[in-house]
Amino acid sequence: MPSINENFLKLEKNYLFINIAKKVNAYKEANPDADIIRMGIGDVTLPIAECVVEAMKKGADEMGVKETFRGYEDSGAGYDFLREAVSGYYKSFGVDVAADEIRINDGAKSDCGNIVDIFGDDNVVLITDPAYPVYVDTNLMNGRKVIYADSNEENGFAAMPDESVHADLIYLCSPNNPTGSAYTEQQLKTWIDYAVRNNAVIIYDAAYEAFITDEAVPRSIFAVEGSRQCAIEMCSLSKTAGFTGMRCGYTVIPKELTVTASDGTEVSVSQLWGRREGSKFNGVSYPVQCAAAAVFTREGQRQTRENIRYYQENAKIIASALDELGIKYTGGKNSPYIWLKCPENMGSWEFFDLLLEKANVVGTPGAGFGKNGEGWFRLTAFGDRERTKEAMERIKALKF
Ligand code: PLP
Repeated sequence: MPSINENFLKLEKNYLFINIAKKVNAYKEANPDADIIRMGIGDVTLPIAECVVEAMKKGADEMGVKETFRGYEDSGAGYDFLREAVSGYYKSFGVDVAADEIRINDGAKSDCGNIVDIFGDDNVVLITDPAYPVYVDTNLMNGRKVIYADSNEENGFAAMPDESVHADLIYLCSPNNPTGSAYTEQQLKTWIDYAVRNNAVIIYDAAYEAFITDEAVPRSIFAVEGSRQCAIEMCSLSKTAGFTGMRCGYTVIPKELTVTASDGTEVSVSQLWGRREGSKFNGVSYPVQCAAAAVFTREGQRQTRENIRYYQENAKIIASALDELGIKYTGGKNSPYIWLKCPENMGSWEFFDLLLEKANVVGTPGAGFGKNGEGWFRLTAFGDRERTKEAMERIKALKF
């Protein structure tokens, strides 16, 4: 009989969204006529831009013709046309990332989790709390020591490093899921300096960079000095271009980034990751890569930006309702997430139940993202405009 990886037994039994679904289903069963508005899961709802769909269809057609059919992609790192397009996209906001520093993947979740394969299990991993649960789970699965940097009301949910604490790997997410807060250049520089002092590597999740409106907020950690020596960046087309069901993202590892092996050799992180991917990943489908490349064309950007503006307008509607109610929140400005303080000192799940029962609105309890999330609650701006308005009217009617 095989033994199991016992670390899995230490994980939370149920994933946050499964718990939510259970509660909502039970409520629906007891109240079949309830008109429930879902503002919980961070999934997009608008269809993919027309020119992107066209590019995917064209790619699919090519697969059905002998002359243009493609089998395995040679490198598994993504076709050059897409890596060049991503590199050009970085350039459009003033960041220099070479095409051969970019690997195409099936979304940021896989790489956020898998990247730790190349790092030893003895590393100390620093994660801001609250956080996207993948960072914690993936490291607990390998038995790594996880320590936390508190994001809370006092620091505007922008955790900063504690100089007295050492870490080897640091997960940062900006704009942040769940809190919607986004680091300024100065704050990122502080993290970079901390990483350099600790010989640490920052794993930077930029999945929501397309929602940044504030000039002072970098779209990439590579916009900040010193980052190429200490950071890896993950990004995704999921929220940028509605690719949650398509699956495509990219990871950037600068050529300069090295770590020292136990025998003193300097090892390229990019080469190590390439070796891992070569063994465990065969790349993203050709039609999806064609679609992804279309996102970065002028027309693709125009069309996908329209969808982002739609979500940003939803975020404003949510934010102004909370302003009217005098409820504190972060996010909404550079992010599709609004992170609000539960009124009347309610706990996260208590507020979840109340919203579900009294307003038939579903959000996400902050406690599901870590201890600092207790008493906080996440609403997403990814919904339908009219339903978002309706949800906020219902919440306002509760008169907190
Ligand atoms: N990173 C963050 C912070 C997220 O919120 C998500 C998805 O919600 C992801 C990564 C994963 O996105 P995907 O795997 O769809 O690219």
